[in-house]
Amino acid sequence: PFEVLVIGGGPAGAAAAIYTARKGFSTGIAAERFGGQLNDTLGIENLPGTPYTEGPKLAADLQRHVGEYEIDTINLARAVELVPATKEGGLHQVRLANGATLKARSLILSTGARWRNLGVPGEAEYRNKGVAYCPHCDGPLFKGKRIAVIGGGNSGVEAAIDLAKIVGHVTLVEFDEKLRADEVLQAKLRSMPNVEIVTSGQTTEITGNNGKVDGMIVKNRKSGEERRIELEGVFVQIGLVPNTEWLAESGLELSKHGEIVTDEEGRTNLPGIFGAGDVTTVPYKQIVVAMGEGSKAGLSAFDYLIRTEPV
Ligand code: FAD
Repeated sequence: PFEVLVIGGGPAGAAAAIYTARKGFSTGIAAERFGGQLNDTLGIENLPGTPYTEGPKLAADLQRHVGEYEIDTINLARAVELVPATKEGGLHQVRLANGATLKARSLILSTGARWRNLGVPGEAEYRNKGVAYCPHCDGPLFKGKRIAVIGGGNSGVEAAIDLAKIVGHVTLVEFDEKLRADEVLQAKLRSMPNVEIVTSGQTTEITGNNGKVDGMIVKNRKSGEERRIELEGVFVQIGLVPNTEWLAESGLELSKHGEIVTDEEGRTNLPGIFGAGDVTTVPYKQIVVAMGEGSKAGLSAFDYLIRTEPV
């Protein structure tokens, strides 16, 4: 068994493991995809001390940093069940999709989050046939074409700005009466010649022909009028869902949004089990926040281990 087992290999998990390994604890990381959301991110300009980097490069840097220590990294490992220790100081168990069970005296859960689905007809049917979630991955596939971005928060507006440079035309659709993105991003978007912004717009259907997206239906929430927009791609950017389905039966406290409830030290309601990053109730889902929270969870695990007798 490990002294510390980290589930999730994004910025939060990597930071946590570096901290506990540096305390001399045997540390493991089990992750479905090391790097997490960084793999889907292009430019990163808000990591203090690093004026510019790119997601895959930061993921590789984190992997290299983790590799400086004796951290047992288990990649392509999906956790499917948590069985907490029955006594304080006891071993927690995490069952993986491949049937293996990992054990550890303390756990740091940092399984992050993923993009939310629209849930309208056509979305699932045309996924990867015009319906996309990762502009950095799929943007180039729509070079010169007409696309829509659903969602007027920071991620939607960023995606629209990014895509407008590659594609022919972007329609940005926001459900609310106004965009919610930072003003600087909105100004940038408005300055782009090939962008139309639709507010109070509810996407009701994504349509297709010959197995490919050919349009979508947007209802004006004020007038009730429906409009068909002809296009070849739809990027859905309407928020993140925490990756906590596997914790549903564990006894771990989750918020109404499914996030792991943590206190200011990263503790959950279960002794020896900590949470960090986008998967928790901590606000502001950002890389630097995830790294900070991972470091805190690592130090809290250290604190727990030195004060608790193994049973
Ligand atoms: P994640 O990065 O989501 O990592 C979660 C980890 O857990 C992954 O390794 C995943 O494979 C693993 N995992 C999930 N479920 C399981 C399971 N059941 N079992 C095992 N492993 C599992 N933030 C910024 O600060 N600046 C930016 O410019 C920026 N741009 C972004 C652009 C995009 C397109 C996206 C998607 C995000 C962006 N973010 C940005 C947000 C940032 O990427 C996240 O806040 C950050 O990655 C969160 O880190 P995390 O470690 O909590 O979770």
